[in-house]
Amino acid sequence: MPITAEQQAEISEQRAQSAPTRRVVAPGMEQHLYTAQPVLDHGFVRVIDYMGDDAAITQAARVSYGKGTKAVQNDEGLIRYLMRHWHSTPFEMCEIKLHVKLPVFVARQWIRHRTANVNEYSARYSILDREFYIPAEEHLAKQSVINNQGRGETLTGEDAQRVLEMLKADSARAYDHYATMIDEGEDGNGIALARELARMNLPANIYTQWYWKVDLHNLFHFLRLRADSHAQYEIRVYAEEICRLVADWVPYAYKAFEDYRLGGAQLSQPAVEALRKMLKGEKVEAADVGMSAREWREFMDIVS
Ligand SMILES: Cc1cc2nc3c(=O)[nH]c(=O)nc-3n(C[C@H](O)[C@H](O)[C@H](O)COP(=O)(O)OP(=O)(O)OC[C@H]3O[C@@H](n4cnc5c(N)ncnc54)[C@H](O)[C@@H]3O)c2cc1C
Repeated sequence: MPITAEQQAEISEQRAQSAPTRRVVAPGMEQHLYTAQPVLDHGFVRVIDYMGDDAAITQAARVSYGKGTKAVQNDEGLIRYLMRHWHSTPFEMCEIKLHVKLPVFVARQWIRHRTANVNEYSARYSILDREFYIPAEEHLAKQSVINNQGRGETLTGEDAQRVLEMLKADSARAYDHYATMIDEGEDGNGIALARELARMNLPANIYTQWYWKVDLHNLFHFLRLRADSHAQYEIRVYAEEICRLVADWVPYAYKAFEDYRLGGAQLSQPAVEALRKMLKGEKVEAADVGMSAREWREFMDIVS
């Protein structure tokens, strides 16, 4: 369960409060504030705070005095222009702060995105919960034979069951040892090993939590890489959940991101040359434009 009854009560209490403000609010985001959106078996993403909206992007681009909105159409057109031409700083005027609960092996990929501010739950100070990511059976797959960094054929039947049993048994055993090592005992006669040491025995599928604050430009960069079909499923589902939140927060900016980055494609100079030849009805092959077999395959995936 991602959230306990007490945590839910705290969230509900926070959601019941509101305060007048002169600051910009994005109605689409207000509806999500504080609510935990479940991800994987015990994880979640929830919005703790945000700054700005679509109008804040155009306001910064125009360096205007007022709210900045000349007309809705102008705002949307300007945002699309900024996205198309990599004029990225106006997007940095919007910020979001998320509370994320995620398995440690997902956190290791996530933390590589250096342009965010992070504060993680301390396993030196606190005791970690007995919560481990155990994949749903349909997400167990063999090593891909065509992509060294990916999954291939789905595991079924006995093999899938064996994997699940091993994951569950190893997680339980590691946590039991962790609990024994940190236990102070009834009369203080337990081992009472320091938490900072006992945690080293825990596997990478245990859950951690952090607050993660990032501006919209860098968030789009994160989403471009992690909501992509090549990203590992376990981080992709978090990125996809964040995409849904961002679409409600800054709908014009998100649509532009979807059109020009997420669903768009970047072509090299030889690829543009090949495309031009194709449009003229000429027969063209990789060698004609100096592309490798792999580049050509990736190019054909885009254009066919
Ligand atoms: C599918 C996939 C597979 C990957 N596989 C591996 C792997 O096998 N091994 C591995 O180690 N990593 C791997 N990574 C991580 C990857 O190399 C990047 O570290 C990660 O995606 C973060 O990207 P970033 O540096 O652009 O993002 P951020 O750290 O958020 O930075 C955003 C941008 O800011 C700029 N920037 C930030 N810091 C600096 C800096 N110090 N110097 C210069 N410019 C900076 C850069 O322009 C950068 O693109 C993988 C990522 C993906 C998506």
